[in-house]
Amino acid sequence: MHQNWAGLSLAALSQQIAQQLLAVGILEAEQETKLLFSKVFGPDVWQQILEPDQQPTQKQIIELAPLLQRRLAREPLSHILGEKGFWTLDLEVNTDVLTPRADTEKLVEVALALTHEQPTGRVLDLGTGSGAVLLAFLSERAGWSGTGIDISDPAIAVAKRNATRAGLTQRANFICTNWAKLDGSDYDLLLSNPPYIASQEIDELPIEVRQHEPRIALDGGDDGLDAYRFLVAHLDKWLRPNGGFAFEIGCTQAQQVTQILEQTGFARAIATHLDLADRERVVCGQMEH
Ligand code: GLN
Repeated sequence: MHQNWAGLSLAALSQQIAQQLLAVGILEAEQETKLLFSKVFGPDVWQQILEPDQQPTQKQIIELAPLLQRRLAREPLSHILGEKGFWTLDLEVNTDVLTPRADTEKLVEVALALTHEQPTGRVLDLGTGSGAVLLAFLSERAGWSGTGIDISDPAIAVAKRNATRAGLTQRANFICTNWAKLDGSDYDLLLSNPPYIASQEIDELPIEVRQHEPRIALDGGDDGLDAYRFLVAHLDKWLRPNGGFAFEIGCTQAQQVTQILEQTGFARAIATHLDLADRERVVCGQMEH
């Protein structure tokens, strides 16, 4: 038995774990403790915890201790749990995909706003990773179907399993290919959360990100904008006239990405949207007809 945990109630144990997480600089310690507890003790642990003499079993302690050690060593919680909630979905995640961020739900919101008068259509998601953006969008737009593209074969395997989890295999198609080789066209909507961190800034990201998440999903080249230049240069190849697009951006990139779009001459109604922390997080617009 973990020596510090002997005789503790579930409530006391949860407090002790939250303190340990906080002590290594994990700010969302309480929320993370809840998720770890739900994993080991089951989803109704929060009722059990109210009973003062509820104690964990030895088997549960043996299960919990190594999970906590991994988190204290700054492995992402999503990798330890093997899943992450995004939008209304519970998605599988692992080291092959970027863990979906809460901020990325803004991209889904913008995509839904852009298409609120279009009950049917086809959407393309470039750099789909876990499939989070495409699957969340399709879960809200029953008349739409779509394709998610990623250059990483293992990422596409995760996305396909997530389509199964979400019950969306009929409408979500995932393909492993390079964007440059993509010959599909006439989509009604293009979405992307591309890599947008400047290469030299990756080493400044939290350990969870820089050591555990796929660099290819983060690295946007010297100034972080390589993917946008490529996306924008090909918009008219992939989108039908009047088709909409929305990209997630780094919070300092709105002006530069808007400029890249303006230079093409074929994008209109360009707008930016704020994330949960009031940072510019999404740029969207429409193709000129
Ligand atoms: N938002 C992510 C991060 O800061 C980066 C995502 C991306 O490059 N698309 O870790």
